[in-house]
Amino acid sequence: MSLIMSPILLADQLLRMAEDAEGVTFKDLGLADQLVDACEKLGWTTPLKIQAEAIPLALEGKDVIGLAQTGSGKTGAFALPILHALLEAPRPKHFFSLVLSPTRELAIQISEQFEALGAEIGVKCAVLVGGIDMVPQAVKIGKQPHIIVGTPGRVLDHLKNTKGFILNGLKYLVLDEADRLLNEDFEQSLHEILEAIPRQRRTFLFSSTMTKKVEKLQRVHLRNPVKIEAASKYSTVDTLKQQFRFLPAKHKDCYVVYILNEMAGSTSMVFTRTCDSTQLLALTLRNLGFKAIPINGHMSQSKRLGALNKFKSGDCNILLCTDVASRGLDIPTVDMVINYDIPTNSKDYIHRVGRTARAGGSGIAISLVNQYELEWYLQIEKLIKKKLPEYPAQEEEVLLLEERVSEAKRLSAMKLKENGGKRRRNGEGDIEGEYIEKYLGLKDGKSSKKFRRK
Ligand code: AMP
Repeated sequence: MSLIMSPILLADQLLRMAEDAEGVTFKDLGLADQLVDACEKLGWTTPLKIQAEAIPLALEGKDVIGLAQTGSGKTGAFALPILHALLEAPRPKHFFSLVLSPTRELAIQISEQFEALGAEIGVKCAVLVGGIDMVPQAVKIGKQPHIIVGTPGRVLDHLKNTKGFILNGLKYLVLDEADRLLNEDFEQSLHEILEAIPRQRRTFLFSSTMTKKVEKLQRVHLRNPVKIEAASKYSTVDTLKQQFRFLPAKHKDCYVVYILNEMAGSTSMVFTRTCDSTQLLALTLRNLGFKAIPINGHMSQSKRLGALNKFKSGDCNILLCTDVASRGLDIPTVDMVINYDIPTNSKDYIHRVGRTARAGGSGIAISLVNQYELEWYLQIEKLIKKKLPEYPAQEEEVLLLEERVSEAKRLSAMKLKENGGKRRRNGEGDIEGEYIEKYLGLKDGKSSKKFRRK
């Protein structure tokens, strides 16, 4: 039985991530012909809502605050007006715009979109993110790129240490996912960067939520900004089927395996609370013959990108992730989201399930709630203003898997433990261990065939 065959049409249909702005074209928005052509080449036939609203305001020279999430088309909403201004600008044009992002992956995706949209006009970008050698980045800076995209810590590092990297002429600043830029890790660097760049500039601030810190930031650093909203904040799309299952903690693995079996062939993201759980569960699933791969904050930049690429390319169809991966990553087709652990912050639920049922497609999100997580789950229902139906499954049928699942888990835990003795962390906090990486699919080599499903 395919669970996505009969999506329940839920009452409120907000957070439409790919809602077209009716009848308006990119040309109507006032963009230069080269950029209209570039959109066409990318298959962007019509501007998305956030683009239709933000681009004309940005072209008028306004500071813009956009309440929007990844998937809404916000990158185009800021990249296109910046590229338009770049085309029209007199020389010098280097270090024309700085885009700050909270994650390395998002920074890379943003830079890729700038390069794709600006291919015709020869735009040069540099990505400055942590976890990667600074020297090649400094070389890139030396080539005088037009657009710098980076995470605050690394950008500041280069501002302090890389000769010739001075942002005196900066014209555009973008603060992407500003709510996350203002967390403990980045806040100090962000403020230092804001001190080091010219006040005479345009600023675009995008955030999925308007927290008190974001309000304060915008009051101090934006000038008469216009606020636009891509969608209502805490709601879920009408084509998303959402279910929960209340179950004892010890049965979670069995349920995950059962659900993934039922949905065999679909692309799924399974969210866990800790980095270690992504590994243990990925290994368990691989032992059972699933094509699963973990992505989490303990992995180095290149491993994370490698895992993401395996998922994007279809080599692996199950991504085990922490909330690091719930935001910012450009993953176009996910059929199902499983909340293996219920997020303690209910807003994370919205971000997680936002990975499925995008652009009007259908999708399913299933939350496995144990006795300790009930409180958090009820908070989620309160936030989305819905009582969700229960995931229908015969417990006896699910528990038939118990023996094989616990054996696979026991062996996985053992392997991880053995590896724990050998592993060491490198300077970037990456877990190094040839042995386990091979089993996790992070290094070339096949997953263990020993425990494949019969
Ligand atoms: P973003 O929210 O910027 O991460 O964009 C989400 C996805 O939407 C990306 O894969 C973009 O390539 C895609 N996209 C952005 N604008 C458009 C558009 N006007 N038409 C179709 N797809 C778009």
